[in-house]
Amino acid sequence: MFENNYNNLNNIHFCKKCVESNQRFMSTPQHDLTNDHLKPRALFDDSGICLSCRYYEKKKEIDWTAREGELGKILNNFRKKNGEYDVLVPGSGGKDSIFTSIYLKEKFNMNPLTCTWAPGIFTEIGWKNLQSWIKSGFDNILFTPNKKVHSLLTKLSFLNLLHPFQPFAIGQSSFPMKVALEKNIKLVVYGDGMSERGIGKTNLDDLNIHGEKDIKDWQTYNKNKKIYLAGLEMEEIKKEYSLSNSDLKPYMPVDKETLRENNINILHITDFVSYNPQKNFYFAKEKSQFEVNPDGRSEGTYTKYVSLDDQIDGLHHYTWFIKTGRGRATEDACIEIRNEIISRDEGVSLVKKYDGEFPKKYFKNCLQYMNISEEKFFETIDKFRPKHIWKKDNDKWVLKHAVWHD
Ligand SMILES: [Zn+2]
Repeated sequence: MFENNYNNLNNIHFCKKCVESNQRFMSTPQHDLTNDHLKPRALFDDSGICLSCRYYEKKKEIDWTAREGELGKILNNFRKKNGEYDVLVPGSGGKDSIFTSIYLKEKFNMNPLTCTWAPGIFTEIGWKNLQSWIKSGFDNILFTPNKKVHSLLTKLSFLNLLHPFQPFAIGQSSFPMKVALEKNIKLVVYGDGMSERGIGKTNLDDLNIHGEKDIKDWQTYNKNKKIYLAGLEMEEIKKEYSLSNSDLKPYMPVDKETLRENNINILHITDFVSYNPQKNFYFAKEKSQFEVNPDGRSEGTYTKYVSLDDQIDGLHHYTWFIKTGRGRATEDACIEIRNEIISRDEGVSLVKKYDGEFPKKYFKNCLQYMNISEEKFFETIDKFRPKHIWKKDNDKWVLKHAVWHD
């Protein structure tokens, strides 16, 4: 798309408006079951501005009242009056899923079912917030994957990809599709600001409801492609670790044909409502008993209301930091700069202060969960440090180029 120096992954660049790094997609097989993640993706335009910042510029021109009207029209086609669920809202009971479900119910008189793929290891606050979401007036289907299989896959993903979050990410991606099919719910509405984070669609003009064409490869099964999990081909995993088809079934995507035949539709609330993480946080606090991180902030960042439910979360962000040089504070600062909650200068200082902070709080639990020794852990971490990102300085690993060096 953009063949410019900013997208050359051997040279580290940061967005001139926010603090995003062009390393974002470097070796981060986030949710991809086909290993397509190995292809680098363009993130910056020719002026050195990231596409998410450009997306925000476009957002300012949107008539959000008209958008809400559009949403109302779409929902009219799905609303059921016979007491059956008419919309599915996947989520964890975080601020975005709380906002979306209550908004659909109170503003548009929809009857949402909510569904949750359980985190690897619930945090106390995550469990409380899930319960608060349910208490605020929603039925919920909680799916908890077989811990024996899930912890093995977490371990393999850590060792093979330095991505302990992959089994969770993959499982929770296709899970809502399976619930929608099973419960005969034709509409799935996501509440998170994926596009705001630079991983959703960047075209705000396309307001068509997303059908099968927009469903990502990792949510569905393309029969022509080999499927990988934890960096291993499916058949290899089964053979090597004596796993059965039923062990791996929860991680398998739904095939596109089935979704098409059943006319499952997907939309993102952020196409219709101007997304702002702080606004959703205040909304969730007012409308439910949503609580923030009791430690005041999450490790590796300065925020207290983002991604609170999994003990592995901190480790996930830390591994991402190792592979890309951009951590959890970068992730949060980018979105807050774009929403004009903080300035770029503030963002740079926050990144300098918090990015890459080691996730001590649940470290022992994570090691135990993955059945990995501390020695093996650090050996694996160092194995994945890209040479163009890291150097050793007096026996300490430091970033070769950071946003505060610019
Ligand atoms: Zn940017």
